[in-house]
Amino acid sequence: MKKIISFLKPYVWCFVLAFVLIATRVSCELSLPNMMSDIVDNGIARGDINYILKTGGIMLVLAVISTAAIVLMNYFGATISAGFARDVRKSVFHKVQSFSSAEFNKMGASSLITRTINDITQLQNFLTMFTRIIMMCPMFMIGSIVLAFSKDITMAIIFLALVPFLLAIIIFVSKYTIPLSKTIQEKVDKINLIIREKLTGIRVIRAFNKDTHEQKRFDIANRDLTDVMILLQKISSVMMPAMSLILNCGTIAIVWIGSKRIQSEALQVGDMMAVLQYVMHIMMSLMMLSMVFLMYPRAAASANRISEILNTEPLIVDPNCDEENSKTEKGEVEFKNVSFYYDNSDEAALKNISFTAKPGQTTAIIGSTGSGKSTLINLIPRLYDATEGQVLVDGIDVKDYTQQELREKIGFVPQKAVLFSGTVKSNIRWGKEDATDDEIAEAAEIAQATDFILAKEDGFDSHIAQGGTNVSGGQKQRLAIARAVIKKPEIYIFDDSFSALDFKTDANLRAALSAHTKNSTVIIVAQRVSTIMNADRILVMDEGTLVGSGTHKELFDSCEVYREIVLSQLTKEEMA
Ligand code: ADP
Ligand code: MG
Repeated sequence: MKKIISFLKPYVWCFVLAFVLIATRVSCELSLPNMMSDIVDNGIARGDINYILKTGGIMLVLAVISTAAIVLMNYFGATISAGFARDVRKSVFHKVQSFSSAEFNKMGASSLITRTINDITQLQNFLTMFTRIIMMCPMFMIGSIVLAFSKDITMAIIFLALVPFLLAIIIFVSKYTIPLSKTIQEKVDKINLIIREKLTGIRVIRAFNKDTHEQKRFDIANRDLTDVMILLQKISSVMMPAMSLILNCGTIAIVWIGSKRIQSEALQVGDMMAVLQYVMHIMMSLMMLSMVFLMYPRAAASANRISEILNTEPLIVDPNCDEENSKTEKGEVEFKNVSFYYDNSDEAALKNISFTAKPGQTTAIIGSTGSGKSTLINLIPRLYDATEGQVLVDGIDVKDYTQQELREKIGFVPQKAVLFSGTVKSNIRWGKEDATDDEIAEAAEIAQATDFILAKEDGFDSHIAQGGTNVSGGQKQRLAIARAVIKKPEIYIFDDSFSALDFKTDANLRAALSAHTKNSTVIIVAQRVSTIMNADRILVMDEGTLVGSGTHKELFDSCEVYREIVLSQLTKEEMA
């Protein structure tokens, strides 16, 4: 919370200016009833044009000043709230970028989106209300009360007697609305999640004919949110009428008692009119304030949700030592007794893994799905940190590199290829910003992507849709491979990147790649034995443990798990 308030610091001067403007407005408006009461009580001498012009002129000037103050105040109010929202959004976005996969998993992408957009908007709206109402209404109220007292103490006291009743209503209503407001933001999260899943999974949903199912799921969440909102409105709707009832009773009492006092000449008509106007001001202010009271819980809930992001310290941070890591340009990867637990799991995803992947060699990892292959290679670019043991790159613990320095060395092709909206070229260029067209063409050639790229109407400038939905799975993978290849990294990591390729393309790609990656460390995760048979070393994973390590031949003779995988895939001739 403190952190969020600190975002207001740059706008202190805006607040000061707004405050001055509000004070100007309030004093202008509050002096009007006084002048009116003067006119009513003393009257105007027949034909006294001067007096009319003078008083009327003053009132007009006051009205103009007051209007100008409102306009300016709204301007500063908008400056504060929009600027504040921009700063918080920037900061939240920055923070989220520093998150490692663990933090992403914890909060969930949908919630992060709701928080960055919806919650910050809630705060922005609240701030607008704050400058317009919270700063102004108390001033109006205090001014009105003081002036009312100076006009007539008895009547002001009648009015003050109403205050406890009004407070009771506010407290009663907020008691119910605060918890509801928190729920609302959670429900918005839920809807966001469903919409996101629906949009990203649209093809699967259609293919499985689950449109109605998804529709229902959305309807339930939607109704859920609506119900809470209606309930909130129901409770809140009690507030306004109840307050006006009380305030109107006060007005009646003032008129009633006032008229009696006028009769006995203890009070003048003009004064009573002035008091009534002050009461009106107080009423309006209270009404507006009560609206803010209804907004506050939701804004507070939003502020908490945003603080939660801002206060999350990413697990993976850069070392704060300044020493330069010696840039040896090798790329040796070593695992030393590495174990790893996912945040929400008691069982180790990796158990005591040790191996070394040497430059100039291809190290392959094979194993059934869920055996921990992806988990293992995610530790190299520090997408996660090892729970026990050490991951070393060129003899230095990955935790001692800055994340940028480390990832500079690595060309990573994830299991699920991800493309970004743009062109074929812009996607490949991701790997190397200043790549020339020739380099791009070469990378595409190695990745066996040239044929299908050139077959497209615009060749390398062909459009790629968001998420790469307008190319096939295998094409997507080949572009992701080209993106890694163009980087010429010291360490190549392919997480099951050849699975969507046909055997022939797979073989061609590996041949082209091995010429290109001669001096680099290549780590290939694969399901197909044929993909990795010729690797310099094969690691066999089973349920998070390394159960075998060696060449194809060695493992086939010595490792039961490996032999089973081979026998299930290859024919006798292929094995020979
Ligand atoms: P592979 O790539 O060999 O198919 P993974 O490394 O993806 O296997 O997964 C290994 C194990 O870790 C699996 O049992 C899987 O359920 C679990 N796992 C993977 N990702 C997560 C995660 N983000 N949180 C918790 N458990 C996970
Ligand atoms: Mg995997």
